Amino acid sequence: MPRFADNALVLFSGGQDSTTCLAWALARYPHVETIGFSYGQRHAVEMQCRAPIRAALARTHANLGPDHVIDIAAGLAALGATALTSDAPIETGPGGLPTTFVPGRNLLLLTYAAALAWRRGLRRIVGGMCETDFSGYPDCRDDTIKAMQLALNLGMQRRFVLETPLMWLDKQQTWAMAAEFGITDLVIGQTHTCYRGDRVHRHAWGYGCGECPACQLRADGFSRWQAGAAA
Ligand code: ZN
Repeated sequence: MPRFADNALVLFSGGQDSTTCLAWALARYPHVETIGFSYGQRHAVEMQCRAPIRAALARTHANLGPDHVIDIAAGLAALGATALTSDAPIETGPGGLPTTFVPGRNLLLLTYAAALAWRRGLRRIVGGMCETDFSGYPDCRDDTIKAMQLALNLGMQRRFVLETPLMWLDKQQTWAMAAEFGITDLVIGQTHTCYRGDRVHRHAWGYGCGECPACQLRADGFSRWQAGAAA
């Protein structure tokens, strides 16, 4: 039974983090909708993971509302390539930022999400941003999210609450949270995190190349979670 009389919009990519955030929101709010973005990501396969994950969660959660998909690929492509939106190598670029950094991405996604939430009458906006396992993305920082909340509320004259349940968790704790919500098998079998879009190689922690930074973080968190659970 949801605990708070409020509605939520979850930024849902089909990855491990946003799936865990969706389960978190479904446990809290009586009505939850999802938004996904097609932004030319090289791991576009994650977009195909969304529907089966939603279908699985809908079987146990009657409060899962409609899904919305926004295509911002053309706009981002016009701004230039990054390793997340092209085949460029994934590495640390100039200024210490990873080449997978898409400048402005989370700022754009949150702005689109708030615009939709405004129209749909939704107050909570939930995202899987995380500062702990922070891949070096400045737009995942807590301060960035807090500043966005202020800007969106001022600019749209609403009282949106931006919620980031994973902000201070590491990947081990994210796996533990998935277990708490009973979605471990769903996360392993259905979610997608690998930057390279690999859905061929199946590991104990799910599908992926096993080598890109996203796979390494996911695999490492999984083995630490398993070791902790066994202890
Ligand atoms: Zn990978």
